[in-house]
Amino acid sequence: MYILFEGIDGCGKSTQIELLKSHFNAVVTKEPGGTKLGVKLREILLHSDVKSKEAELLLFLADRAEHFKEVIEPNLDKYILSDRGFISGIAYAMSGGFDMNFLIELNRFALSGIMPQKVVLFTITKEEAIKRVHTRGELDKIESRGFDYLMQIQDNMLKVVDHLEIETLIVDASKSIEEINKEIINFIGE
Ligand code: ADP
Ligand code: MG
Repeated sequence: MYILFEGIDGCGKSTQIELLKSHFNAVVTKEPGGTKLGVKLREILLHSDVKSKEAELLLFLADRAEHFKEVIEPNLDKYILSDRGFISGIAYAMSGGFDMNFLIELNRFALSGIMPQKVVLFTITKEEAIKRVHTRGELDKIESRGFDYLMQIQDNMLKVVDHLEIETLIVDASKSIEEINKEIINFIGE
């Protein structure tokens, strides 16, 4: 079962995946992933000053398609817990002005039509997100893009899951780590 964990920085994805990993004897992966092609694509995206936002989107999609072929597809008979994935991809591209339905179709193509079976989407308030990222000492990195922007990305993620017909658990990130862990185990175990 392919399960996708989504939510902005600091919402608790990695914490929960770490707890769930042994419980489900799961294959854990993240996007952007670390395929050979993916590493080269990241290099291009970070250092080649890509001018066209269409080109940028297609490079991200190429990375996703390769990650699907190399990591997801060979493990579909196991529990796969993915730390971010196409929902983040769509949410960021929407803020670049692309149409959501078009983005969903492009991502369906990149994923060979095989969408995650379940999605766990964390929602967090702006205040809590700032506090958590600050605790991790990564505030400078995020502040440059702005937390308002991240809240917009979170809204986009909610719109995407609302539109997709994938079983989704919306997690209130302000709950305790233990409580959230129980909720997710129940949800996956259904
Ligand atoms: P993400 O992977 O989504 O960016 P993390 O799992 O790294 O988020 O968590 C970000 C920070 O918040 C970490 O310092 C973590 O210990 C803390 N944290 C995670 N879940 C909770 C929670 N439910 N309540 C309070 N703090 C949390
Ligand atoms: Mg993380």
